[in-house]
Amino acid sequence: MANIENENYQEELSKTRTELEMLYDIGNAMRTTLNLEEILYIILTAATSHAGLSFNRAMLFLVNEKENRLEGKMGIGPDSAEDASKIWTHIEKNKIGLEELISIETQFDNLKKSKLNQTIKSIKIPIREDSGVIALTVMEGLPFIINTLEAKQKVKNEFSIILDLDEFVTVPLKAKDKVIGVLLADNRFNKNPITNDAVRVLTMFANQAGLAIENSRLYEQTVVLSNSDSLTGLWNHGYFQYLLEEEIKKSSLMKFCFTLLMIDIDNFKVFNDTYGHQAGDSIIREISKIFRDVSRKIDAVARYGGEEFGIILPITKKEEALILAERIRRAVETSPGLKNITISIGVSSFPEDGEKKEDLIAYADRALYEAKRSGKNKICA
Ligand code: GH3
Ligand code: MG
Ligand code: MG
Repeated sequence: MANIENENYQEELSKTRTELEMLYDIGNAMRTTLNLEEILYIILTAATSHAGLSFNRAMLFLVNEKENRLEGKMGIGPDSAEDASKIWTHIEKNKIGLEELISIETQFDNLKKSKLNQTIKSIKIPIREDSGVIALTVMEGLPFIINTLEAKQKVKNEFSIILDLDEFVTVPLKAKDKVIGVLLADNRFNKNPITNDAVRVLTMFANQAGLAIENSRLYEQTVVLSNSDSLTGLWNHGYFQYLLEEEIKKSSLMKFCFTLLMIDIDNFKVFNDTYGHQAGDSIIREISKIFRDVSRKIDAVARYGGEEFGIILPITKKEEALILAERIRRAVETSPGLKNITISIGVSSFPEDGEKKEDLIAYADRALYEAKRSGKNKICA
C-alpha cells in the first residue's frame, strides 16, 4: 500500500518537475525579445511543440479595448491532417527541441504561408455574451474546456465553424488582473483528448505569456512615444533620419524605388506675426492631421523642423508620388480649417536623384526652393 502511494508520489513529482522545466525554458525564450510578433510566435510554438505543451493547433487573440473586441493575431498549426503528419514525422525524426523550434529566423517565414494564420488574422470577435466561448473567456477571466458532446453543441457559432473547432480549450491571457487576450488550443488532427493536466499547465503558461505580451506592448509604446513629435504626434526629426536610412537599405537590397517629399508652409512668418505663435501652432497641428489622413498606411510622415515636414513614400515612383503630392497640396489649400494657408513641396526619388540620405534630402530641398522661387503653393521635382 505504502509502496504504491510512494510510486504515485514519485510519478507526480517527476511530472511536476518536467512541467516546471518546460515553463522555465519558455520563460527564458520569451525574455530574448521585446518584439510583440516574436513573443506571440514563441507562445504559440511553445503551445504546439512536442517538447512544449504539444497541442496540435494554437491560436491567439488580443483584446482591443477601444473597439471592445478580440482580434485574431496569430495561429500556428498544420493546415491539414496530411501537413500535420509530415511536420510531426520531421520533428520526431530530427529530434527538434523547443529551443530550435522557437528559433525565429527559420520558422517565421512559414507563418506567412499558413492558411490558419491568415484566417486568424481576419477574425474580430465582439466582447459580448452572444459571441461565444472565446469572448466569454475574456468576460469571465476563466478557462473553458469544450470536450463533451453537450458543450460542443452549445458553443457552435460562426467563429467555431470558421476555425473548424470541435474539442478545444480556451484560457485567458492575464497581465496583472486584466485579461488582455485569449489563447485557444486543440488537437484537431490526432484527436487526443484534452486532459485536465494539459489545461492546468496551459493556464500557468498563459499567465507567463500574458505578462510577456504586456511588457512588449509597453515597450513598443515607449519606443513610439520617444520617437514622436510632441506637438503633432508625427515622427520626429531623429526618427525620420533613421527611417530614411532604413528605407535606403531596404530599397537597395530589394531593388525598389521610393520617393521623398519635403514640405514647407508658405509665408508662415507673416501668419505668425499677424496671429501669434499659438495660432501658428494650431495650424501646424491641423496640417499634420491632413498629412496623416491623406497619406497611405505605408508612408512615414515626420515633422522635419519647425514648419517643415518630410514624407517617405516606400515603393513609389516619382510619377505616382507626384499624384500623391498634388493630393496633399490640394487638401491643404481647400481645407476649411486652413483659410489662406498653402504649402510647397519638393520631391526626390531613390535611386535616380541620389542613393545617399544627404543627397536625397538636398535634392528635395533644392526642388522645394525652386517651388518657392517660382510662386509657392506648388510642387517641384
Ligand atoms: P516661405 O514661404 O519662404 O517658406 O516663407 P516663411 O515665412 O514660411 O519662411 P520659413 O519657411 O523660413 O518659415 C520660418 C517661420 O516659421 C519662422 C517662424 O515664424 C515659423 N515657425 C517655425 N517653427 C514654428 C513653430 O513651431 N510654431 C510656430 N507657430 N511657428 C513656427
Ligand atoms: Mg521653413
Ligand atoms: Mg515656410
